[in-house]
Amino acid sequence: MVAAWPPACGARSLSFERDFRVEMKSIQSIRGMNDVLPDHSAAWQRVEATAREVLTRYGYLEMRTPILEHTELFSRSIGETTDVVEKEMYSFEDRNGESLSLRPEATAGLVRAGLEHGLFHNQQQRVWLMGPMFRRERPQRGRFRQFWQIDVEAFGIPGPDVDAEIILISARILSELGLKGLRLELNSLGTTESRWEYREKLREYFDSHRDELDEDSLRRLDANPLRILDSKNPGLKELITRAPSMLDSLDEESRNHFDAVVDTLSQAGVDHEINPRLVRGLDYYTRTVFEWISDSLGAQGAVCAGGRYDGLVELLGGRPTPAIGFAMGVERLIDLVAAGGAGDPDPGSPPHVYLVAQGDAAVHKALLLAEQLRSALSRLRLVNNCGGGSFKSQFKRADRSGALWAVVLGEEEMAQGTVILKHLRADHAQETLAIAELEGRLEALVAGKT
Ligand code: ATP
Ligand code: MG
Repeated sequence: MVAAWPPACGARSLSFERDFRVEMKSIQSIRGMNDVLPDHSAAWQRVEATAREVLTRYGYLEMRTPILEHTELFSRSIGETTDVVEKEMYSFEDRNGESLSLRPEATAGLVRAGLEHGLFHNQQQRVWLMGPMFRRERPQRGRFRQFWQIDVEAFGIPGPDVDAEIILISARILSELGLKGLRLELNSLGTTESRWEYREKLREYFDSHRDELDEDSLRRLDANPLRILDSKNPGLKELITRAPSMLDSLDEESRNHFDAVVDTLSQAGVDHEINPRLVRGLDYYTRTVFEWISDSLGAQGAVCAGGRYDGLVELLGGRPTPAIGFAMGVERLIDLVAAGGAGDPDPGSPPHVYLVAQGDAAVHKALLLAEQLRSALSRLRLVNNCGGGSFKSQFKRADRSGALWAVVLGEEEMAQGTVILKHLRADHAQETLAIAELEGRLEALVAGKT
């Protein structure tokens, strides 16, 4: 039974309340799910604003889709033999028995929404989405159970021009964040058909090294040997490096497509490396795949990953629709921004004014005055003191808020219809002015004319 709260009043309520508190354990966040505290939100806002601005400049439009979807959407699109679907999804049965899952990535939901709303009918769509994703992985630096992605997709364009565009967008977001020293790796996975031949070669190769494989890889050997290339087990690294290269099995069209992407990137001055063993953690990719990697993030070095997935729209019930996209991991980007890759993020915009008031009438007047000023001056950032306190403690709060100016309304000022304007960061003489003059004076301050 859940104890009623607040406890019933009466003679015993005090001791009940005390016992109740002793028993209450504080509730912690879920492992691998993080809070963004006020001190850190400036870095988040900077990453978000930069991405939003770059994407708008390229003509990409924002979409937002639900965090919960039918589990089948992900199992069908991402692939049954991927880590994500096999063991990382947060799935549960809804009250009507349907299986629902928290989205582990954004693309499947965007395709579902695009199909549901007819966005792909003879149309090109360039879209993006920013939001939290959920995977039950082992939490460590740069790897969480709730993490944010900036996801960018272009539908209905076969490439290779848009492949280059997508990669150039990712390059521009990273460079506008001031991040340097990132490595771009590229590969082509060919078409679904040409990949069969490669799968077979890979299967033979890994089969002849069975004794060196771990349990996960053995399980995937027959179902999906490409997955082994994506193994995070350092013990397999050497074996994977010597595996056959996909590029040797590419069909001619995929080869030309890939050459055109690589050529455009070179001409646009974007450094890149071909990594013939680069695959993606999700099954739906075809042809171009790429990753941006940082060496300063430890094992979790990939900050952005993407590629072409021409089969996915059809797999989810639509007509064949070419598509390409990428997802950036926001926490990893912020880690890099904070590590000084781009200098300290802007600490945000402190208030212009902190309004200090004392005495019942003044406190009441202050709240209304604050509203009136906010209505009149849309750019004014004003914090009104709430919760009372002595002048001294209110000035302490004013100082902590970072405000440049304090406006003071005490009993004496109330009586005279004035306020005091005091600079908090420089040794200016304080001014007394009529309440009616305050708006004009603050307008000049906000405009930078002191
Ligand atoms: P990784 O190889 O690091 O597991 P992935 O191949 O699973 O990444 P994608 O599914 O392609 O990653 O997601 C794109 C980006 O999202 C990654 O490059 C990474 O920056 C970020 N990301 C993926 N999983 C996590 C996670 N659990 N925590 C934080 N960021 C993540
Ligand atoms: Mg992963």
